[in-house]
This record gives sequence, structure tokens and C-alpha cells, in this order.
Amino acid sequence: MITVNSLSGGKTSSYMAVHYPADVEIFAIVRNESAKCGHPDKKVMQMANDRLQKTNPDYPEFIGTPEHVDTITAILDLEQLIGKDITWVTSFMTFDELCRWKKAIPNQMKRFCTTWLKIDPIFWHCFLRYEFVKMRCGFRADEAERALTFSTKYKYPIHQNNYGKRQNKWETVEWREGEFNLIDDLVFHPQVQRFWESKNITFPPDSNCQMCFWKNPQQLKQNFSDSPNVMEWAKGLEKEIMRTFKDVSLSDIERIPIQYDFAFGGGSGCQAGFCTD
Ligand code: SF4
Repeated sequence: MITVNSLSGGKTSSYMAVHYPADVEIFAIVRNESAKCGHPDKKVMQMANDRLQKTNPDYPEFIGTPEHVDTITAILDLEQLIGKDITWVTSFMTFDELCRWKKAIPNQMKRFCTTWLKIDPIFWHCFLRYEFVKMRCGFRADEAERALTFSTKYKYPIHQNNYGKRQNKWETVEWREGEFNLIDDLVFHPQVQRFWESKNITFPPDSNCQMCFWKNPQQLKQNFSDSPNVMEWAKGLEKEIMRTFKDVSLSDIERIPIQYDFAFGGGSGCQAGFCTD
């Protein structure tokens, strides 16, 4: 059976890629419509687009991402370190398009973004090529409970390109089984941190979408400093859709005082396991 490592550009899943090589190393990048949220180095953006085009020449151009831009370079550097191609995939929808289509902003009650922007492109890539895979997600032993919500099924509309129209027919398939090497081998957070201390890869200070509703308001406040362009774009999206990621707006969160003893950089912690470190 084909093994697949689901990578996020964070330290934990990158540790998994180094220590538990798989047949396929896959990374789903979330795209948005703000060129200010692209990597400032055009060569980096070109490399990212080349990789996406290699996976699927029909993918739209990648101009910006709500993830930290260091995620892009971390994945490119990881590729060098493991000496192996990483398969880049993306949704055909941007974050902005998804919100317009749903007439909503994802929040803890309406958690639709992971499915459409992370799982969907990985599912289609794997299902069309391998039908059933063994998939590893970077869950450490200190977050073992996340493996409990790992789903082996995926439900998709039969006319899957018919976005925006009412879907009546859905099909559910078993497409993967999970493997949790870091939990099985008792790999905890400090071990992962120590491993990367001596390596020359700059990881994002905080993984995944910088405005993610899973993040603590303190982390979101910090991300206004670390990823100001993403947070400005996200504020604009809240205004456009007239909904918010948290129960207060990002503009309100921008005004809260920073709490310096907060443990920053925890990633998203989404239950589906695709938006993880
Ligand atoms: S990181 Fe958060 S906002 Fe981004 S796709 Fe995952 S759950 Fe959604």
C-alpha cells in the first residue's frame, strides 16, 4: 500500500518526513487573493508555482497564502534536506472564493475550510492515483487525542466541479487508513524542537493560516506583528462577508494587549489533522 506523509511546513510534520519517509510526501497550500500575502522573493513564488503546475497544470496561479510565508520556504528547504520531491497540491478555490460561496467565514461552529482547502486537494490527488493509502499525520505523543478524530472516509459531490450550485448526490468512500508514528514512538514536543536546532531551516513562528479561528486571541494578536499582510487581508475578508473568525472581530483582537508569557507558536490544532504543525 502507498504511504503518504501529510506535511504542513511546520516542525512536527517535517520531523516526520525526515524520520519516517513515505512513498509520497504531500503538502497542500491554502491560497488567497492577496498578492501582498505572497512570498516577497519572486523566485520563491516561481518555484512554488512550478511545483503546483507539475502536480496539475490546470491549477490557478498561486499569488498569496493566509499561511506564514516561511511555510513556503520551509517546504522548499525540507525537500532539499530529505532529497526527495514533495508533491504540492492546492484547492481550485481560494480562501476568499470559499467564503463567498459559503456566505460565511469559517469559525468553530462552521469548520468548512479544512475540508475544502486542505483535505479536498489531498483526497483527489491520492484517490485518483492510488485509491487507498496509508496516511501519516504529524501528531506528537503530547497531542495523541488528535488521532481519535482521524477520519478514513471522505464524502464528495458526484459532480465535484459544480461548486456553488445545489448538490443532491454525494458519495462516501474509504480512502485511507491512519498511521501515527510519532505517537507510537513517543515523540514529544521537546524532541522535535531539539532536532531542528542544529538544522538550517527557518520554520514559520506559527503554523497554518495566521488568522485561523482555532488560534487563541493572543496568538492572533501576535500574528498581527508576524504576518501583518495576512491579518490585514483577513480583516478585509471579515468586512466583505460581514462575519468573523472568532466571536469578536480581528480588528478588536488587534487592539487587545499582548500577554508576553503566552506560549506562542502552537499552530492551529484543527481536529481534521490537516491543519497541524
Ligand atoms: S489553518 Fe485554520 S483557517 Fe486555515 S484551513 Fe486550517 S482550520 Fe481553516
